[in-house]
Amino acid sequence: MRLPRFISKITPGFEVIDLKEWISKGFIEIYLQNKEESPRLCSKCGDRLNSAKVGEHKIKVRTLDIHKFKTYLILKRQKHYCPTCKKTRSEALSFISSESPHVTEEYAWWLGRLCEIAPVSRAAKFTGNDPMTMWRFDFKRMRRLFQHYKIPKVTRISVDEVYARKQKYYRKESRDKRFFTIVSDLNSGRVVWVSESRSKEALDEFFHVIGEERCKDIEVVAADQFDGYKKSVEVNCPNATFVWDRFHIMQTFEKYVNDDRAWLSHHLCQGEIKRLTRGKFKQLFLKKAERRSKVENRHINDVLKDNQHFAYLELIKEGMFQIYQSKDELEAREKFVEMGEWIRQSKVFYNLEKWWKTFNNNWDTFKNYFKYRVSSSLSEGINNVIKTVKKRAYGYRNMAYFKLKILQVCGFLNSNYVSMDFQ
Ligand SMILES: [Zn+2]
Repeated sequence: MRLPRFISKITPGFEVIDLKEWISKGFIEIYLQNKEESPRLCSKCGDRLNSAKVGEHKIKVRTLDIHKFKTYLILKRQKHYCPTCKKTRSEALSFISSESPHVTEEYAWWLGRLCEIAPVSRAAKFTGNDPMTMWRFDFKRMRRLFQHYKIPKVTRISVDEVYARKQKYYRKESRDKRFFTIVSDLNSGRVVWVSESRSKEALDEFFHVIGEERCKDIEVVAADQFDGYKKSVEVNCPNATFVWDRFHIMQTFEKYVNDDRAWLSHHLCQGEIKRLTRGKFKQLFLKKAERRSKVENRHINDVLKDNQHFAYLELIKEGMFQIYQSKDELEAREKFVEMGEWIRQSKVFYNLEKWWKTFNNNWDTFKNYFKYRVSSSLSEGINNVIKTVKKRAYGYRNMAYFKLKILQVCGFLNSNYVSMDFQ
C-alpha cells in the first residue's frame, strides 16, 4: 500500500509508516516514525535536551479530518533529560498545539476558524470537542491574530461606550471601569479598536496606538457628551472636528422634557387632565408629532385644548426636532433662540430652562453637527452582535476574550482581513 506523503509535510522530522482505517468506527489512524537523529529540544524551555533517551510514550493526536473520518496521528514522543530545567522532559514537537498535546496546531487553528463564525459551544458540539478546550483554542488564536493586527486607515471615527461588566463580580471598582470604549470607522461601519473603561485615557490609548502621524488624518470624531472623549480628541487630533451624537443629545433632551411634564402633571393638573398626561399616555408626549397615530393625536389635542402649558411643551419638543432639520448652523441657531424664548415665556419649565442654558454654553460644539452630519451610536447590527458576544463571553468571564471577540466579529480581527501567512 502506498502511504500518504503529504502528512509528513505537516509533521517535519517524521515519516508515515502505516495507516489503519476503521471505517465502521469512523476514524483513521496514521502511524508516524521519527526519521532523524537530530538534537531534540525541550518542550518546556526550548533548549537542547541531552542526547540519551530516557524513555518514550505513545501519543494520539487529532488532526484535520479526511473525508468525514476523524483522523489521528499515532507516534512515539521521546523523553530526555533537560539540563536547563534539570528534569526529564518531553521533546518539543512543532506540529502539536501548545494549547493541548492531543491536537495538532493545524487542527486547533481550524477549530478557532470555526469559532469566528459560530458560538464556541456550537462549534464544540459540531466537532465533538470539549467546550472549554475549544474556548482556549479560540482565545489563543485571537491573541495570535491580534499580534499581527493593524488598524486600518481611518479619517472619520465614532466613539461609543458599551456596558461590559456585570456589577456583582467587580463591586469595588468605579462605574467607568465597567465600560468598554469602542472606536469604529464611520466609513466601513466596523469596529477598529476596543479599550477597557470609559475615560479620556481609554481613547488616548487608541490615538497612541495609531501614532501621531495618523492622528493628523482624522477629520471627524463623533461621540456622546462625555467630557473625557472630547478632551482626548482636542489633545491628540489637531485636525479633527468633534461632533456630538444626535441620539445622545435627544436622549438627554427628552429626559428634561419628561421631568417638566411630570412636574406639570403633578402640580397644575386636576382630574381628567391629570389622568390624560400620566401613565400609559406619558410616552405620547415624547413622540414626534408625525409619528403619532390618529387616536394618539386626538388624545394630545384634547390635552392641549385645556392646558396651554402642555401646548408649549409640545412646541418646544417639536422645536428640537426642527433644529436638527435645519439646513445650516444659522437656521439652527435661530430656531434654538426661539425655543429658548418659549421656554422662558411659559415660566414653568425649570428643567428645560436649565438644559437650554447648558446647551447654549456648548453651542460651539453642537454646531459642528451641521458641518458633518454624523452619528456615533453604533449601528443596530453591531450593537446586537456585541450583546450576543457578551452573553457568550460571560460564560467564561474573561474581559480580554470579550474585547478580542468584538474586534473579531464586528471588526477586522479575522481571517478575512488578517493575513494568515504567519501561522
Ligand atoms: Zn527544559
